Amino acid sequence: MVEPPERVTRGSVAGSRVRCVWRYRTTVARHTAPPRPFRRDTPPSPPPDRRVASPGRLGPVSDDYIRLVPTDPDWQPRPAAAAAAVAYVAGLFAGPGDTVEQVRQVFYDRVTLIDAGVHTERIACPRCAGDIGMDWLGDLVRENGMSFDRLDVAVPCCGATVELNTLHYEDPIGFARFEVSAMNAVRAGYELDTTELARVAELLGHPVAQILARY
Ligand SMILES: [Zn+2]
Repeated sequence: MVEPPERVTRGSVAGSRVRCVWRYRTTVARHTAPPRPFRRDTPPSPPPDRRVASPGRLGPVSDDYIRLVPTDPDWQPRPAAAAAAVAYVAGLFAGPGDTVEQVRQVFYDRVTLIDAGVHTERIACPRCAGDIGMDWLGDLVRENGMSFDRLDVAVPCCGATVELNTLHYEDPIGFARFEVSAMNAVRAGYELDTTELARVAELLGHPVAQILARY
């Protein structure tokens, strides 16, 4: 049995994400084309549950996610393995003084862009090393949505056909049909180290990549 992906509605709690993206885009693009936020017209990939601002928390709220995905975009774990990985990741943030708001799994029906939010900044072509603008990816997502039947695309720099998951993203993003995510985790060493990632991979039964996202 497979848990359906969460749907995130635009304009409610996702509003804080739009503001964050705007801030980045206007900083970069102010003197060129009008700013075109990456996801202004397209809901982001459904990261795990969104939070309404915590009581007493002031100002714009951003959320951080550690997103762990299989390295093979099509691969999905068995439900029991997924549950074991979730329990393990939750345990990593259970030490004295550690916190995590939520650790959860999401199964996606189709290969889905696992983005890094405002951390998604620069993309380079694996063939010609040319710069691929974020607007290009943004347009692709607007046309196609966050889920893909095929990952091969013609890149704008040299026209080569390459797989989306082989582009060089300055800060890693992923394409996957499954993720385990940890929301607003706090501990001395924030992200999972190589030993911990290997343990997640062992529990799931497949190598994993780590994406550090902020919305
Ligand atoms: Zn190229």
